[in-house]
Amino acid sequence: MLLLGRLSLPRFSVSRPSSLREAVERLSSGEGVYPIAGGTALIPLIKKGLLEVRELVDLSSVRELGAIRREDGRVFVGGMVTHSELVDAAPWGMRNVLRDFLRNHTSPHVMNLATVGGSVASSTSSEDLLPVLLAADAEVVLAGRDGDHSVSLEDYLARRGSFRAEIVEGVRVRYVWDGWRFSFSKLSVSVRRMPAFCVVVGARVSDQTVEDCRVAVAFADGLRPGRLRDVEDAVRGKRVDAVRAADVEDAVRRSIRPAGDVHFPSEYRRKVTSRVTALMLSEVLGA
Ligand SMILES: Cc1cc2nc3c(=O)[nH]c(=O)nc-3n(C[C@H](O)[C@H](O)[C@H](O)COP(=O)(O)OP(=O)(O)OC[C@H]3O[C@@H](n4cnc5c(N)ncnc54)[C@H](O)[C@@H]3O)c2cc1C
Repeated sequence: MLLLGRLSLPRFSVSRPSSLREAVERLSSGEGVYPIAGGTALIPLIKKGLLEVRELVDLSSVRELGAIRREDGRVFVGGMVTHSELVDAAPWGMRNVLRDFLRNHTSPHVMNLATVGGSVASSTSSEDLLPVLLAADAEVVLAGRDGDHSVSLEDYLARRGSFRAEIVEGVRVRYVWDGWRFSFSKLSVSVRRMPAFCVVVGARVSDQTVEDCRVAVAFADGLRPGRLRDVEDAVRGKRVDAVRAADVEDAVRRSIRPAGDVHFPSEYRRKVTSRVTALMLSEVLGA
């Protein structure tokens, strides 16, 4: 029994609020209360007995969380938008990256259930969407008892524990990426295992000079995804022919401290992430 884990779920209650305010109230009602979106991460945790749950707050009837809308050069994507809906519905300039994100998804079933809010709240390296959102300058919109506020996704990931009593209402990402080229790459060997790496790189080149760039990886620090600003700073403003892949590789290697596991030791993740990022950057720079 211990080895197999629980075959059934323990007892808990489920509330189904129809508004964001009501959902926030339920979430603030005490210990052991968690929001549930697609359930793809949460239900396995409960089944394995890794989370004591008194009440699940089912977000599926909260209309505000299903929205996708344009707002002043950005697009708002509600927390209940699924991975597959995100790619179909959000026409921003990173479409190739989103298509590759879906193409590399380990499970068609999961991609139709898993949500943007669930990925953000999970905040771990197994969420391929996080490097995509980091590269898209995402802001997380949060709803709590004191009202709504937003923080950058980088800040959210760094201070995840501070936002536990809040609902991820959605993310705002930059909509227009004229002149940018992006690339997505991931290596996963099994649906049950963390990927070896997941990297998103983007750059805008003008007159053979790197005007701006983005480098985001799934394993930046332990199991935390992150944007590699030192690497971006080292490349920004350089002529394309002065960006050496070996220097980029070295800069990435110095910027990350990935977690390791039995399949992919930390040093392996570090090497492969550095090498792949350097190759991807050369590709988007057209070097
Ligand atoms: C077999 C399998 C394969 C997978 N393959 C991939 C893959 O290829 N790529 C990938 O990126 N991911 C993959 N995943 C991971 C999965 O897609 C994510 O964990 C998922 O994004 C979580 O979203 P969810 O809606 O299911 O969240 P849930 O499981 O419902 O919740 C996850 C956590 O987020 C919290 N939460 C959910 N919504 C909100 C909200 N709006 N506000 C605040 N907190 C919230 C919950 O309380 C819980 O703590 C896979 C998972 C499985 C089981």
